[in-house]
Amino acid sequence: MIGRRSATRLGTGRNRGIWPVLALILAAVLVPTACVLWFMNAAMQNERLAVRQRLTDIYRRELLSAQKKLDDHWAAKMRLLQGANALPAAEAFHKLVTERSFDSIVVYDADGNLAYPLVAAPRPETAPAGNADLVAAWEDARAMERAGDPNAAEAFAKLARAEKQTDLKAQALQAQARCLMRRGMGVSPMSATGVTPVADGRSPKQHGRDGRATHGQDARATAIAILAGELSKDEYRAARDGLGRLVAPDALLAALRVTSPDDANSRKAIAQDLLARVNSYAGPAMPSSQRVFLMTELQNDIRVYWPTLEAEQLAAAYADDQRTVPAESGLARAVVRGLWALCPPDGGVVGLVTDHEVAAAVDSLGPDAQALAGARSIVHYGPDSGIAREPFLDVPASQYMPAWRLSLYLEAPDPFAAAAEQRNALYLWTGILGIAFIAIMATVMATYLGRQMRLTRLKNDLIATVSHELKTPLASMRVLVDTLREGRCTDEKQASEYFDLIAKENERLSRLIDNFLTFSRMERNKRAFDFAEVDVGDVLRAAADATGERFASPQSRLSVEVQPGLPLIRADRDAIETVILNLLDNAWKYSGDDKSVTLRALSAGGAVLIEVADNGVGLSRRAQRRIFDKFYQVDRTLARKAGGCGLGLAIVKFILDAHGGSISVRSQPGKGSTFTVRLPCATSKGRLNAEIAEESKEETKEAFEGDYMD
Ligand code: ADP
Repeated sequence: MIGRRSATRLGTGRNRGIWPVLALILAAVLVPTACVLWFMNAAMQNERLAVRQRLTDIYRRELLSAQKKLDDHWAAKMRLLQGANALPAAEAFHKLVTERSFDSIVVYDADGNLAYPLVAAPRPETAPAGNADLVAAWEDARAMERAGDPNAAEAFAKLARAEKQTDLKAQALQAQARCLMRRGMGVSPMSATGVTPVADGRSPKQHGRDGRATHGQDARATAIAILAGELSKDEYRAARDGLGRLVAPDALLAALRVTSPDDANSRKAIAQDLLARVNSYAGPAMPSSQRVFLMTELQNDIRVYWPTLEAEQLAAAYADDQRTVPAESGLARAVVRGLWALCPPDGGVVGLVTDHEVAAAVDSLGPDAQALAGARSIVHYGPDSGIAREPFLDVPASQYMPAWRLSLYLEAPDPFAAAAEQRNALYLWTGILGIAFIAIMATVMATYLGRQMRLTRLKNDLIATVSHELKTPLASMRVLVDTLREGRCTDEKQASEYFDLIAKENERLSRLIDNFLTFSRMERNKRAFDFAEVDVGDVLRAAADATGERFASPQSRLSVEVQPGLPLIRADRDAIETVILNLLDNAWKYSGDDKSVTLRALSAGGAVLIEVADNGVGLSRRAQRRIFDKFYQVDRTLARKAGGCGLGLAIVKFILDAHGGSISVRSQPGKGSTFTVRLPCATSKGRLNAEIAEESKEETKEAFEGDYMD
């Protein structure tokens, strides 16, 4: 009754105790895991935000750096323009264009009016009205020229001598040469400069055939002398015709055209003089239209490259629409297609750059594509970048480029996620490792706690077993002794039975105490073995005798079989007897009413085998594996009834380990069990084994303590 109650109590206690522990372990795993997961999630989100912020900063820095580079670029150009302000307009043009600082230049004066390209201003083509004689002489000469009068040349020569004004003097000489040409060649060389062809419409050949060739040649030579000699003198350098053009370069071109190809030296000299004048931007300013005309004409006549021709043409095209300085400073689109004008804040010299130049500057100075991983930047004019989406970042391209924007677009909707991925993977792995660590720690903790609980249970079991097992025989002895002492038992036979019962209980008590003491000694390692050569047969017989009355009844049979000539073993005799007694005790306890136990000793393979076979309840496979554990009992109720405390086989194993021996069991439930003890013989090898056993005792003891004493 008491045993059952205590077993129930223990069981309930065990269940009650395990749930808080399990809940604690679960909490110890779940709470930190949840924290780690929450932390990971927060860290990953933060990382994404941080990456976004970091990349945005990088993008912005790159845009601002590009903006600064563009600022610097245009500021340097502005400085060039402002530096050229001090020069005369034509020289400023020439300097900046030949330095290749700009594709072209347009210059405005202090009032904001066009100063370069120079527009030709018409000049008087006749003497002032006050000088009536001269005015009339001009009219006459012109009329003669129109009429094709051969004396027209002479009339103009007279005028040239009479005129005081350089412009009119030069115009008269020019007209004289023109008339001489007409006389000599039939075609005026001045037609190249816009003067009408000969009036009679005949070719020079036809004139030659008229027999006036010689006279014509003289006239031509005189004309050349005037054009390339007289008119190229310094005094006529600034002389202009009625349209405001410089007379000398036009005269040189005419001379070049009429000079015979055979006269290479003259042609060369004329051409060099002309080239120098067309290329010169210093001195009297040549109207741009005249310079462009001369350049293109000469390009056809003699192969020559003009470094400023294109710039002149661009400037002329720009100036056509922009007669006054642009109202806005900075880089602005010109009316001329593909042209941009860079205007300094104070006007003056305006630089012209082509689309191509602007694109090259934007390309080379715009943001570095490599620094903008995951994004694309566009420097564009006006609000429209050509991309439908809103830009991620957008700044003015440069303070010198009004209406230009520097916009940045993300390539993927969320490039930050990809950039944060690497870090997030790190967080993820850290989290996984953290959770794995928690799980491992929890497992270790659970194992440790389980072990502690098992130990506590074992200790509780021990206390329960000890108190119960000691109390039961003591109680029955007390009842029997009280009955005998109070004289309530008069029958001698019954009294003798009572004495027998007392002796039995006493014996059981002694055996229990012996086991507890052995166990306790083992626990504290106080069990010292006294090794000697032992005859196993003797020990077997002594043990069989020690079982006393147990096997005396007709239903209990114990047969002892000792193989003759058994070798001696080296062992502690008492310890081996304890082993056999414990096995016999179990065989008796766990067999039914009809008990048949065989105790056998035989030698096999250098060892002595001791077998204890019974026809008892037998053991399942699982029970066979665990019966050598301390306090393990297959059927607790049966074991208690039989007076066991779950220590017998543990003691047996401990002793055999200490002797270098072993124990095994063969059993089937309901069909009995056979326990086989194997002990090494006391040969030299046996002795050696015993010594090894002595050492292994220490190890076994440690294992034993490790298991149960923590
Ligand atoms: P106990 O003192 O309880 O007998 P033991 O350590 O000697 O403790 O035995 C442990 C358990 O092994 C026993 O409770 C019993 O269930 C089982 N057992 C031991 N010997 C036998 C056997 N010969 N037949 C069947 N079961 C046995």
